[in-house]
Amino acid sequence: MLRTASLVRTLEVGAAAQGPIRQFDGHQFINFCSNDYLGLANHPALKTALVEGVEKFGVGAGAAALLSGYSEAHHALEVELANYLGHERALLFSSGYLANLGVIGGLVNRHDCVFHDRLNHASLIDAIRLAGARHVRYRHADPLALADRLADSAQPAWIVTDGVFSMDGDLAPLPQLAELAVRYDAVLICDDAHGFGVLGNGAGTVASFGLESRAVPIQMVTFGKALGTVGAAVLGPAVVIETLIQSARTFIYDTALPPALAWTTSCALRLATRESALRTQLFANIKLFKAGLHAAGLPVPMSTTPIQPLVLGESSAALAAAAALRERGLYVRAVRPPTVPIGTARLRICISAAHTALQIERLIDGLQAIRPLFPEASRA
Ligand SMILES: *Cc1c(COP(=O)(O)O)cnc(C)c1O
Repeated sequence: MLRTASLVRTLEVGAAAQGPIRQFDGHQFINFCSNDYLGLANHPALKTALVEGVEKFGVGAGAAALLSGYSEAHHALEVELANYLGHERALLFSSGYLANLGVIGGLVNRHDCVFHDRLNHASLIDAIRLAGARHVRYRHADPLALADRLADSAQPAWIVTDGVFSMDGDLAPLPQLAELAVRYDAVLICDDAHGFGVLGNGAGTVASFGLESRAVPIQMVTFGKALGTVGAAVLGPAVVIETLIQSARTFIYDTALPPALAWTTSCALRLATRESALRTQLFANIKLFKAGLHAAGLPVPMSTTPIQPLVLGESSAALAAAAALRERGLYVRAVRPPTVPIGTARLRICISAAHTALQIERLIDGLQAIRPLFPEASRA
């Protein structure tokens, strides 16, 4: 059933480290499907930091944070994140998925209503379902549609959105959402997994709009993307963080992150925020990619972030495109329903600061070679 619809997912074993060159099945590929936007996952300074962290703290936390698993490395990272992002306090989780389950589950009441963007990440959708509250999905990135929905509701309201949408690379209209939150007395929560470390000089989507952190009172950032490590944090007012410590089940009942990884993530945060050259390189690469598409007469995504989707439509077309690119040594994966809406199967291309100009040119050449797979209307 899934196979006939070209929807089967396959797991491939990569050899050696994450990076712009990745080995699968004994062959080397230029890798365009990693969220390691700054090339930190295999960065020498972070490898050194991890070894140092292991020497200091061993390999595992050994317990949940509320038992004995919380260390000075965790605490320091929370303080650094809160200071950097301009929130009162931060709380670490083992992953972004768990942070979303924890923050929604820990804060949202059964009698509340959650308004969420139609294209939000799956972890937010699951979190909202699990919370058992009423929920309303509004049209993607559409404040007017949201305003209509908010006006109809008398319950305490939460507005939940991705900062950067993970399959389209576009941004949530945060200034308008923040305004609606004030007008309708709702609380705005932003999941900035893809914006953190990348946009706003590293501080993320909220900062990229020039908004004060209190305009988005609760923020979630992850470390597995631009920071190159693993884990996540929820940031917000001290009273909210205290509530989460008492009520977020994925915090309370989960073994704390290995402290060595919290230590390494502190180092990654310093690198990502101080080394603006990494971001300059990333945005130069994005520009190069888009200019290459344009010069080749190929469709150019609207996205200004490292996530550059090329929509092909049918799942079979996206799979054929990924297979043809693979033949040319280019590793790009087809993203299909239900991850994206039916009829919008796509190549989700991710650009990194670690790519060379030559690697990006090879990608453009490959895309040119599969031009017949692009929808009629988008072909030059
Ligand atoms: C990746 C991602 C998550 C999950 O984060 P993990 O740390 O990988 O569990 C949550 N939200 C968004 C928008 C993401 O892209």
